[in-house]
Amino acid sequence: MYTFLKSVVKNIIPKETLIRHEDQLRKLLKPFYQGKDHECNICQTKLKKFARLQNGQLICPVCGSLPRTRRLNMLLENEFLKPNFSFLDFSPSRMLYKKWKKREDISYYPTDFENEFLSDYHYDITHIDAEDEKFDLIVCYHILEHITEDQKAMGELYRVLKKGGVALIQTPFKEGEIYEDDLITTEEERLKHFGQEDHVRIYSVKGLESRLKNAGFQVTVRTFSEDLYYGYSPNEKVLICKK
Ligand SMILES: [Zn+2]
Repeated sequence: MYTFLKSVVKNIIPKETLIRHEDQLRKLLKPFYQGKDHECNICQTKLKKFARLQNGQLICPVCGSLPRTRRLNMLLENEFLKPNFSFLDFSPSRMLYKKWKKREDISYYPTDFENEFLSDYHYDITHIDAEDEKFDLIVCYHILEHITEDQKAMGELYRVLKKGGVALIQTPFKEGEIYEDDLITTEEERLKHFGQEDHVRIYSVKGLESRLKNAGFQVTVRTFSEDLYYGYSPNEKVLICKK
């Protein structure tokens, strides 16, 4: 039902209108999905079920949240986001952007370099225009696999993080070693080799962990299990990086 409605919506409404009115459009889907067996922890809708994307991930039909975004929300709420924190958030999801913006007890710095996501800042991650040790918390999810000079970016994350601060980092992962190749530069080739037109590598957990350690971080890899009630994915990994 969801895929069908989505394709109808996509074909009859221009993209800009869709982006502007995404929240209202999603509300139309709500009655089809309301129930009691599942819950989205971001929009707090009790659901009959999550919708399944082609890649198998469970998306909230009401707010559009992905499994990793709901897990991140839980981690920040329960553990990492504290009052009076200065919080740097790279390319936040739309729902979390709105949620953290409303919090008056934190200083929120949502940033997106290319203006694809809702944001208030446009930092270049390889040259962050902020003083040393400015932030208590950094979220950098699905960013580093886009950055050619990733080790420079990690150095910048380390520089702007306060001593005792934490950066939560995630990218897509593969087994084995990091796969990257400077000679692969076209969109077609990047899609074929790295899984997306604008990705420049695929990390392995070990490879990313080692680069983050080189940048100075103390890194703990947390592995999370599936939770069908909240629609979290199995074997999800987050790198908890302390300074
Ligand atoms: Zn939701």
